[in-house]
Amino acid sequence: MQGLAINNFSDGVDFMIATRYLEFETCSGDTRNITEDVQGAVAGSGITAGLATIFVPGATAAIITIEYEDGLAKDLWNALERLIPQEMEYLHNLRWQDGNGHSHIRASILGPSLTVPFDTHGLMLGTWQQIVFLELDNRSRKRKVIVQIIGE
Ligand code: ZN
Repeated sequence: MQGLAINNFSDGVDFMIATRYLEFETCSGDTRNITEDVQGAVAGSGITAGLATIFVPGATAAIITIEYEDGLAKDLWNALERLIPQEMEYLHNLRWQDGNGHSHIRASILGPSLTVPFDTHGLMLGTWQQIVFLELDNRSRKRKVIVQIIGE
């Protein structure tokens, strides 16, 4: 499930698009560092400069950047619990009985994607800035994260 297409801008400059997928199983509350996987997808694409978009199709997960370390991960989840508590009345839960109203709201606020520029040196991330997947749902999931790379 990987694609590479070569296209033209109207002035004749070639650019390429490569699409890669990261697939993994999660548990509720997973904080997963996917920086190396994204870096690998970019390096293996043959594209040497451009933009990588990392996108999770799903309404109860998020792609963020953070300094990836245990303490901060806990701080982040604690902050999410303070801001958007699990144990509240959500109309979504009353309607669907799936208990993940908080998951959806957290996912909406954090967002499903990032765009990161890269060149021959790799992703242009800060030293302490990792690309992190958050499993916000209240159950285990199979996830497929899309990494779409556009450049020359
Ligand atoms: Zn739901």
